Amino acid sequence: MSPFKLHIRVLALLLALAPMPAAAQFVPPTMELRKIAPDVYTMQHPFGSSNASFVVTPDGVVVFDADIRTADQTMAAIRKTTDKKVRYVVISHPSGDHATGAWHFREDKPTVIGSRKQMRDLYQQERAEFLERRGSTAAQFAAYKNAELVHPEVGFDGALTLQFGGLTFQIVEEGSAHSTSDVTMFVPQRRVMMMGDLLNTEIHPGPGESAQVFFSNAGNWITLLNRIIAKQLPIDTYIPGHGPVHIGRGVADLEEQRRYFIVMRDAVSKMIMAGKSVEAIQKEFETPKEFAHYRGPQRQRAFINLFYHQLLERGFWP
Ligand SMILES: [Zn+2]
Repeated sequence: MSPFKLHIRVLALLLALAPMPAAAQFVPPTMELRKIAPDVYTMQHPFGSSNASFVVTPDGVVVFDADIRTADQTMAAIRKTTDKKVRYVVISHPSGDHATGAWHFREDKPTVIGSRKQMRDLYQQERAEFLERRGSTAAQFAAYKNAELVHPEVGFDGALTLQFGGLTFQIVEEGSAHSTSDVTMFVPQRRVMMMGDLLNTEIHPGPGESAQVFFSNAGNWITLLNRIIAKQLPIDTYIPGHGPVHIGRGVADLEEQRRYFIVMRDAVSKMIMAGKSVEAIQKEFETPKEFAHYRGPQRQRAFINLFYHQLLERGFWP
């Protein structure tokens, strides 16, 4: 046997012995680090899953939102940007893609802040989901292995003002629209507001899933957006929970999000009027032209279910 042939046989044997590649190998997406304003950065998800943001001050870093699957990248970006430690983590709402990643900052021992409703939901359904995923062998849940769900240490109702590092962080529980407790964070000196999932850009909004329960209420969503828009805050950029950050677009992003719910409600209402069942609407629904380019068209299915039932239940009022 020529040395070459022997080589091939050894190679074939090695290949046969090698463990089979996982059927669905999970490659974590690469988050894009974007500078939104001086000292304000967003880790933008490439396919429209959750974004995370952080603000650098002379006294330390304030993080807004962390997903256990991508917050390691947020931590790496912080380390590259500054030698300051992560001092605070603020949660927009108690869903896995926003509230599970503080684990990655544990070396810095930050204080995690959430509303009291968020605390309750994290201890209830979100913790159960976290533990279930941690026990799973599925490749996409590898990030949960050996990790802990870090619960908020500080809980608040309504609003909380944090004066830190020369900046003001106005942390407001806006209400229950996307989730059971949607919190925003406004930094007036930087003219930015982090919106969590109250704002989605170029992507259909999610139905507020947490441990397989859908919490979104479209009527409340319109109400909350109306209230924030009416404040006419001095803001250049509203940072979305999902989708690209439109730097400098200001309130136009909120207006587009509000219009989305109004137009979608109108379309579903007409189909109810025509006597269609929720299943028929889900099947036949044509996305209004204005939103046809949005990512995640499959997300409409769960949301149509919410539109349908909320229209019938309460005529869509909160
Ligand atoms: Zn989300």
